[in-house]
Amino acid sequence: MSNLEKDPIERVVAPAVCEGVEVLEPREVPLGGPRALTVRRTLPQRARSLIGPWCFADHYGPDPVEGIGAMDVPPHPHTGLQTVSWLFAGEIEHRDSTGAVALIHPGQVNLMTAGRGIQHSEVSTAATATLHGVQLWLALPDASRHVAPFFEHDEPAPVRLGDAVLHVFAGSLVGSTSSVTAFSPLVGAQLDLPAGASVDLPVDPAFEHGLLVDSGTPRLLGTEIAASHLGVTPTGLESLRIEAGDEPLRAVLIGGAPFGESIVMWWNFVGRSHDEVVAFREQWQAEVIAGADAAGRFGHVDGYPGSALPAPELPNVRLRPRD
Ligand code: MN
Repeated sequence: MSNLEKDPIERVVAPAVCEGVEVLEPREVPLGGPRALTVRRTLPQRARSLIGPWCFADHYGPDPVEGIGAMDVPPHPHTGLQTVSWLFAGEIEHRDSTGAVALIHPGQVNLMTAGRGIQHSEVSTAATATLHGVQLWLALPDASRHVAPFFEHDEPAPVRLGDAVLHVFAGSLVGSTSSVTAFSPLVGAQLDLPAGASVDLPVDPAFEHGLLVDSGTPRLLGTEIAASHLGVTPTGLESLRIEAGDEPLRAVLIGGAPFGESIVMWWNFVGRSHDEVVAFREQWQAEVIAGADAAGRFGHVDGYPGSALPAPELPNVRLRPRD
């Protein structure tokens, strides 16, 4: 997914201490174009932008593809992060500059490590009637953010815990560990719970967590979390009590050790300074949009029937990372 906001804000993102359960509201962001998908974004935002290393959360659908629901995101760059795609319905074709071409279906995770730089396209297939899922980004720690880009795919086996069914698509939870690469201690999982059921989910007390509700109105440690909202819990908890309420619950749990680093996010780039983000933008515009160097930082995507996305203008404000 690309951040297709017309004037993306440059954000200095510093870890924030969570006390009690915080509830983050989504904001609606159109992905551009008259026929484009609208996503509900809960990260980043002013009050909180990091849950462990998770720095971006887009939730979309269920949208019928007939009309306005299609996903067609032309090649665009990323740096310093991993993208995690997880679907509830539909089918998306991913192409990237490592040469990876992959279809993603519900129950499968696509994890793309941008590292020093990558570009990719994402297109819903002709077989898709409805699109419904999440795209999440993980900030890479400073020590790992210059790795060469790579692409991974996994289909986690479901794990039962009482009435709950979990699909662990990143990191570890309840004895299940995803095969995809994590660069810091973290977890990402789909949680399903029948109406009226509850679960005491054992978690790593070193982690903060977020519960992104897809459907249902659960209580997280007693606090009601509405659909498309993100409930955040602090470190120091051995388990999370989650009650489904009157409807079946489907949610995505994300978490990790507090990131401990301040980052600068703008458009599709994660860096450590304004100047670095400016340099990433200039390289994208010169190498790919102007076509100067197809073997540069961002490589080349084969097989996408169209042009790469030019970067928006940079804001004039000069931001510095906070400590
Ligand atoms: Mn993307």
